[in-house]
Amino acid sequence: MELGADKKDIKSLSLEELQAEIAAIGEKPFRAKQLYEWFHKKLARSYAEMTNIPQKLKETLADGYTYTSLRLVEVQTSQLDGTKKYLFALADGNLVESVWMQYHHGNSVCISSQVGCRMGCKFCASTLGGLERGLTPSEMLDQIYAIARDTGERVSNVVVMGTGEPLDNYDSLLKFITLITDENGLNISQRNITVSTCGIVENMRCLADERLQITLALSLHGATQEKRRTLMPIAEKYDLEEVIAACKAYFEKTGRRVTFEYSLVGGVNDTRQDAQELCRLLKGLNCHVNLIPVNPVKEREYVESKKESIARFKEILEQNHINATVRREMGRDIDGACGQLRRRYEMPARIASRLIE
Ligand code: SAH
Repeated sequence: MELGADKKDIKSLSLEELQAEIAAIGEKPFRAKQLYEWFHKKLARSYAEMTNIPQKLKETLADGYTYTSLRLVEVQTSQLDGTKKYLFALADGNLVESVWMQYHHGNSVCISSQVGCRMGCKFCASTLGGLERGLTPSEMLDQIYAIARDTGERVSNVVVMGTGEPLDNYDSLLKFITLITDENGLNISQRNITVSTCGIVENMRCLADERLQITLALSLHGATQEKRRTLMPIAEKYDLEEVIAACKAYFEKTGRRVTFEYSLVGGVNDTRQDAQELCRLLKGLNCHVNLIPVNPVKEREYVESKKESIARFKEILEQNHINATVRREMGRDIDGACGQLRRRYEMPARIASRLIE
């Protein structure tokens, strides 16, 4: 059985929910706000740090609830641009990765939403071992809290683009967004949050109905149904037309321009014809295209596009009045593709456990 599975996760509660818990155990109402601030504003790692909370209450809470605090396993720092890649251990021993990036417009943290992933995109390392489980809201939050503590800097942007499919962990994702944007917590603006999805249509539509001001990024990677299917198994389930319709609905309901991510894979989806097809697909859509030179994963045979192909691809989009950027490669020297750091650590453990069996 999962450790503490029967206990409530106290850092995943909203202030209102925490107030109800505090009332139920007969504590004074003001304690809820005090605790909430220790959890979400002062980013306490444990009850020991909470100097204005009575010892007895700390003990009651420590007994009755789980307190999520990720353990830092490794940090790699880029010598080129200061980007940091973090590896954290969760209470059950699973590992997750997060990334810290500094841009001129502020500091950004990229978080994971699941342990592993079941979407199976062909060029992605995060999916190679399948899905272990979704993260709790507090496990998503604590990636950001641990990084804010480590760097001592303010986090202004959050991107949910690490390991996992956020819309495959929908309820936790929404709760996470509620907590990270709360004015009693880190108070990050909705506009500074980006959620990236491979295109789970029902949940894209639910998210649109929430009418949040977050940015939705859709992983496209192919401009036709056939091309997309060769790279992304999720395309078997949702036709490209449905996915694009859901993007349009997101824009109509929220007024937020959708970002399309397109990882350029050498010889697979980076030709002149691919670019022209992409122009046809996105014609008239208020959007932005983010071109990502594929990061080769050693378990896969895919290679990066040539510099000239990337430049040509972008030029064709621009000639067709489609706003496009090539993702700046941060932390090139510490880069393994998404999910690689975690895999490097988990492989020996898996091999070891097989040997023991
Ligand atoms: N499940 C979400 C988040 C995944 S990671 C989604 O599919 O959008 C964020 C982006 O990185 C996605 O567009 C994903 O397809 C892309 N990506 C994953 N591995 C990559 C690699 N090795 N090279 C380039 N892009 C990659």
